[in-house]
Amino acid sequence: MRIGLYPGTFDPITLGHIDIIRRACLLVDRLVIGVAINRDKGPLFSLEERVAMVEAEADRLARETGTEIVVHPFDNLLIDCARDVNAQVIVRGLRAIADFEYEYQMVGMNRVLDASVETVFLMADAHYQAIASKLVKEIARLGGDVRNFVTAPVNEALLERYS
Ligand code: ADP
Repeated sequence: MRIGLYPGTFDPITLGHIDIIRRACLLVDRLVIGVAINRDKGPLFSLEERVAMVEAEADRLARETGTEIVVHPFDNLLIDCARDVNAQVIVRGLRAIADFEYEYQMVGMNRVLDASVETVFLMADAHYQAIASKLVKEIARLGGDVRNFVTAPVNEALLERYS
């Protein structure tokens, strides 16, 4: 059974994340979406809120793709999380050159920590490539319309948070 781990902060989940999840579902039998607790990033939404938002989308995507999707909060090393969920593959999304430098280092170091786990990079559809949670929050905070970047329930959650 091929198991993939797609880790992130998902603060909140965007259409960019959803596009990557859909593509990852084509590659694995089970996709574990790892929601990082990430206290350092000072998330806008609590872990419980982020997990609930990811779960709502995951249910829909699992039905649509026929791939099993599991949402798994984690607070340990990514490579340990991959072992915990028996993932052979870590899935990451690549947006622009800016992501590359960091991802390049992560792969290099994770490979030393555990050479048996492979990292694969997927690119979102051009339409969704520029989307970043950080900018979505910034736009929503300033009263901008983010409906082209997130699903309706996430938009509602952002409106509520910034009202
Ligand atoms: P962000 O970097 O927006 O805060 P996360 O930390 O939750 O998002 O990102 C989780 C993973 O999803 C990372 O690999 C990130 O590069 C990827 N990702 C996020 N947004 C996009 C997008 N619009 N297109 C492709 N990959 C993305």
